[in-house]
Amino acid sequence: MAAAKPRLAVHKFSSCDGCQLAFLNLGEDLLRLAELVEIVHFAEAGPVDPDAVVDIAFVEGSVSTPEDEERIQKIRKNSRHLISIGACATAGGLQALRNLADGPGWIAEIYAQPEHIHSLATSTPIAAHVPVDLELWGCPVNGRQVLGAVRALLFEVVPALEKDKVCLECKRHQAVCVLVAKGLPCMGPVTLTGCGALCPRFGRDCYACYGPAENPNATALGRRLEGLGLVPEAVARRFLFINSGAPAFAEAGRHWREQVHDPKP
Ligand code: SF4
Ligand code: SF4
Repeated sequence: MAAAKPRLAVHKFSSCDGCQLAFLNLGEDLLRLAELVEIVHFAEAGPVDPDAVVDIAFVEGSVSTPEDEERIQKIRKNSRHLISIGACATAGGLQALRNLADGPGWIAEIYAQPEHIHSLATSTPIAAHVPVDLELWGCPVNGRQVLGAVRALLFEVVPALEKDKVCLECKRHQAVCVLVAKGLPCMGPVTLTGCGALCPRFGRDCYACYGPAENPNATALGRRLEGLGLVPEAVARRFLFINSGAPAFAEAGRHWREQVHDPKP
């Protein structure tokens, strides 16, 4: 009798679905993956069984509602390996900008009956609620990294993590540095690799969608951005964007916001 295939689930939390689409965009590779694993829950692709016990669970999205808080606990219990995918799941995502503002106040301004909106005051990453075995960053996540993680887990080896900065990917691709050559406020010097330096290779600045790299020198980059003519609030916003919930970027953003209120003499 053939051995049972490992079971895989893809769960959605507060998100735009873009990371699930990155999964679907794997095309033929996704069909090959379906030969190796049994995909038991992936609502966007068809199968629906959110309470299934699985070997590998991918989780997209942040925890933003009381219902999310309960659901992630159940998913953790049901999953041997839990992998968070994308900026929403790893750092709280764009929606974590509300952590820095008056979220309930915004809801009251936008909705006629805000009492029907049951959201938490903050948007937080999955790892803030349950142990996570692997985090794949990016907005959206890179399908190649998702496949690599599944392959590693199928062979019972620890998936390799990207650690370099986007700058190194530019060098590998022989891309001209947009910060030096064009004076663009590129975040590549502090941003994790994984995208293949997509934006600089098309002549635009990186806006840090893959989150902080290992040991990012945010202070030095902030000063360099200031040297390009950005006012402190603009520097702060470069850090407080898609990954504002990542500690290294949150700290850098706070630092530059303080310069707004406490200008140098
Ligand atoms: S990380 Fe980006 S692409 Fe993925 S779900 Fe969140 S907003 Fe969408
Ligand atoms: S270059 Fe930066 S903003 Fe562009 S895809 Fe890569 S990490 Fe994201």
